[in-house]
Amino acid sequence: MADYYETLEITKNATAEEIKKAYRKKALKYHPDKNPGNADAEKRFKEISEAYEVLSDDSKRQIYDRHGKNGLSGMGAGHGGGQGFASMDEAMRTFMGAFGMGGDSIFDSFFGGGGGGGNEYGGSTAGSRARQGASKRVNITISFEEAARGVDKELAITNYVSCSNCHGKGANSSQGIKTCSHCGGRGQVIEQRGFFSMTMTCPDCHGEGRVITDPCKECHGQGVVKEKQHVKVHIPAGVDSGMRLKMSGYGDAGQGGGPAGDLYVFVTVDAHSIFERHGNDIVLDLPISFSEAALGCKKEVPSLFSHVSRITIPEGTQNGKTFRIKGEGFPSVHGHGKGDLLVRIFVETPTQLGEKQKELLRQFSELEGPGNLPKNKSFLDKIKGFFSP
Ligand SMILES: [Zn+2]
Ligand SMILES: [Zn+2]
Repeated sequence: MADYYETLEITKNATAEEIKKAYRKKALKYHPDKNPGNADAEKRFKEISEAYEVLSDDSKRQIYDRHGKNGLSGMGAGHGGGQGFASMDEAMRTFMGAFGMGGDSIFDSFFGGGGGGGNEYGGSTAGSRARQGASKRVNITISFEEAARGVDKELAITNYVSCSNCHGKGANSSQGIKTCSHCGGRGQVIEQRGFFSMTMTCPDCHGEGRVITDPCKECHGQGVVKEKQHVKVHIPAGVDSGMRLKMSGYGDAGQGGGPAGDLYVFVTVDAHSIFERHGNDIVLDLPISFSEAALGCKKEVPSLFSHVSRITIPEGTQNGKTFRIKGEGFPSVHGHGKGDLLVRIFVETPTQLGEKQKELLRQFSELEGPGNLPKNKSFLDKIKGFFSP
């Protein structure tokens, strides 16, 4: 048998690109689809494919350069390396490997652009017929309190479930399922496109490899039927808007023994009238009066869990001051730790004052000194420079 380089008519220094080019040119010439029944072309096709198989692989090429074909024994370059490709299958596998998997743009048009999966020469049968069922999404809105405590909800969903009449087989009897005659049960057929052949999903059985001649009345041969289901879902405490829960196996039933799809529950938590969530903390704005802030007071504040908490607001409390009540926030949805309740003070300026109130405030104002308003004093100190020349 001729030297691999001579077979492809390239020099010993040929680059990978040149090797591929040379092989492509010859493969187009000797491809069996272009030379039906031509034993000589077939022989040549096998030879160039074998040469390409070795020279396109750097490590095989190095061995070949150093030790010739004998060095390749047992390396899988055809059966027994030096003896050439035993079958057309081997040659076709090389050809498909080089061009058939969508790797080469020139060939994309011939192969439908997508490249596709296995091929009829590779000996692989149709892909697994077991198909996973579709996954579903449902949206659910819960209250702020439900999110804090956790809640069980019942969802109504419409799923494809395995047909009980035919146990998902789609046929009334086992005799009602026949191997597809169009593809011989492989689920794929070979189609001629010019002088190339292309593997396609069988149009008769849609890749199933079998056809149902006696379809089940309930599911019309589909093996699945639509059914309204009620699914109980436990929404854990601490859940927040935008989180999703995955319920494995609660989607559509699988086909051909495939697993069921999943159900994804997307949670939205309603806003609360007084509480605001910040991570696992809850913020509550507490309005107090100007005199309460100045003199100090005790306040009862609502909280989500113990309903009421007491806080002591010391005299001289400023607007915006935050008091932390430990453990009255959201529990972590991951099951450990809890947020806090943050009570943020909002000092309200009195409005609609009566004459007496105004008079008292005027008197109070006259008695006010810089020490009463620490922030005001430091502010005035800072802006002094702006007004004095
Ligand atoms: Zn059925
Ligand atoms: Zn078929």
